[in-house]
Amino acid sequence: SRPRATSGRHYLQIPGPTNCPDEVLRAIAAPTIDHRGPDFQELGRHILSAIGPVFGTTQPVIIYPASGTGAWEAALVNTLSPGDRVLCFETGHFSALWKKMAEELGLVVELVPGDWRHGIDPAVVEERLSADREHEIQAVCCVHNETSTGVTSRIAEVRAAMDAASHPALLLVDTISSLGAIDYRHDEWGVDVTISGSQKGLMLPPGLSFNAVSAKALRARETAGLPKSFWDWLPILAANENGFWPYTPSTNLLYGLKVALRMLDDEGLENVFARHQRHARATRAAVEAWGLEVLCQDPREYSGSLTAVLVPDGFNADDLRATILDRFDMSLGAGLSKLSGKVFRIGHLGAFEDLTLIGTLGGVQMGLNLSGIPIKQDGLEAAMAVLEQG
Ligand code: PLP
Repeated sequence: SRPRATSGRHYLQIPGPTNCPDEVLRAIAAPTIDHRGPDFQELGRHILSAIGPVFGTTQPVIIYPASGTGAWEAALVNTLSPGDRVLCFETGHFSALWKKMAEELGLVVELVPGDWRHGIDPAVVEERLSADREHEIQAVCCVHNETSTGVTSRIAEVRAAMDAASHPALLLVDTISSLGAIDYRHDEWGVDVTISGSQKGLMLPPGLSFNAVSAKALRARETAGLPKSFWDWLPILAANENGFWPYTPSTNLLYGLKVALRMLDDEGLENVFARHQRHARATRAAVEAWGLEVLCQDPREYSGSLTAVLVPDGFNADDLRATILDRFDMSLGAGLSKLSGKVFRIGHLGAFEDLTLIGTLGGVQMGLNLSGIPIKQDGLEAAMAVLEQG
C-alpha cells in the first residue's frame, strides 16, 4: 500500500465531503440514544427550529437519512406527476444526473444546452417560459453551484426571469455544494424546494439530506402523482411536529448537525459567505499567477465553494492528482464525465481557513512542478497577497 505521512491529517480538499471540525466529530461520537425518547425529542425539536436560517427560510425543512441524490428524488416525487414537463439546464455533471433521474421517473425534460463553463442564463429562462403559453412546464430545476465546474448560477435572477414571464412553474434548486458556503435565500428568492446535503458547507459527514419546502410546494404535493413512500413529506412533517421522525433517523449525524448549525450561527452567515469568497479569490489569484486557466468563464458566476482548473493540453489532470496524493497525501477533485483528465478541482469550502488554503495551494504548486506542467512560480505569493489584505 501507499506510504502515508506518519503525522498530521490527510488533506481532504475535494469539493465535498469536506473536513469535519473536531467539535462536530466529538458530538457524533456520543452514544446513540432512543429515537423515540424524551432526549431525542429535545434534540429533534432543537434542530428543526434551528435549521431554517441556513436555508434563509421560516418554512419547513425536511431532513432525510440519505445522500443528496435522495433529496433530488424527494423534490421531484413530492411535487410532480408522470408526464409533467420540467425545464433543466446543462450546466455540468450534476445537472445532467438530475435530468437523467427526472427522465427515469417519467418526467418529460426540456433541456437548455450548455458548455459547462457558464451557469443558467436568466434571459433563456424568461424566453423558454414566455414561449410556454399553455403553462405546460411544471418545474424549473436549477443546480445553484455546479460542483463539477465551479460555476454558480444566479438564482435571484432566475426567479426574476420566471416572474417576468409570469409563469407559475415551481422553482426547484439544488444547493448541495452551496448551502453554508454561498449566499442563498430560499424565502426571499421564492424557491419552492431547496435540496441540500450534509457533507459540504454544513461540515458534516455524508448521510443527511434536505428539502426546504414552500407553501406552494406543499400544495403541489396534494396532487402530485409520482409514486412515493419513503420520500413522502407528509408523514415526516407530521412526526416532526413532535420532534420525531416516522422511521429511525441518523441520530449521531443529528448530534453533529446541532453543533454545525451553532458554529455557523456563531460565525454569522454573512461572515461565512465572505470567508468563502475570500478563499475563492485567493485561489483564483494563484491559478492566474501560475499562468493556468479557471474553468468558469463569467466572473459573476465564480464559485465560492470550489475552483476548477484546466490543465494545459498534453497533460492529464488525473496524473497530477495522483502525484499530489502520493507525495503530499492531499486529495483534489477529479474532472467528471466530459471534463475527465482535463480539470482538477480545489475545494475551499466548509471548515477551512487561511493556512489550510496555503497548504493546499503549496501542494498543488509542488505537484504541478513534479508533473512537469509549465507554470510560473508565483501562485503562492499571489494567494498570500490576497489573504494579507484581510
Ligand atoms: N448535486 C450536487 C451539486 C452535488 O455536488 C452532488 C454531489 O457531490 C450531488 C448533487 C449528489 O449528492 P450525493 O452524492 O450526496 O448523492
